[in-house]
Amino acid sequence: MIKKLKCEKAGACLEILGQELTVNDFYREAKEGKILGLKCDLGHITIPPRYSCRVCQSPKLEIVRLSGKGKIINYTEVYAKSRDFPLDAPYTLALVRLAEGGNLFGTVLDEDSAKISFGTNVDVTFKEVESVASNSIRQISSEKGRPRIFFKISV
Ligand SMILES: [Zn+2]
Repeated sequence: MIKKLKCEKAGACLEILGQELTVNDFYREAKEGKILGLKCDLGHITIPPRYSCRVCQSPKLEIVRLSGKGKIINYTEVYAKSRDFPLDAPYTLALVRLAEGGNLFGTVLDEDSAKISFGTNVDVTFKEVESVASNSIRQISSEKGRPRIFFKISV
């Protein structure tokens, strides 16, 4: 699947895997443990995929494989149970800056929630979570079967 290897001045190389990455592709690969992002010519990383770069809006993007490592840059504890969110409260939502760039929003694994703070190193992991609101009219059918984004503390 690797088309070419693109290296930065700093020495970091990213595998360029192609140009088209749909949201469904992104989650299908995630189930296999592969974290894919999109990189524009200026080096910004966009994840999850969109049609254009999240920073400069360039539509010229290449698929890159990411390490899944990052640092927590913000987080909040949620105490209200949501009808459409399948986790029991309280749970911790976090914004993570990935090692290659780009930010990912997800949930901190239960056992790690009390141990995180700003700057904590985490690994991205994907987990399928049974929805408690399967009859909810607000549930988007295209999201069924998609794993959710979680963070666990790096060891
Ligand atoms: Zn860009």
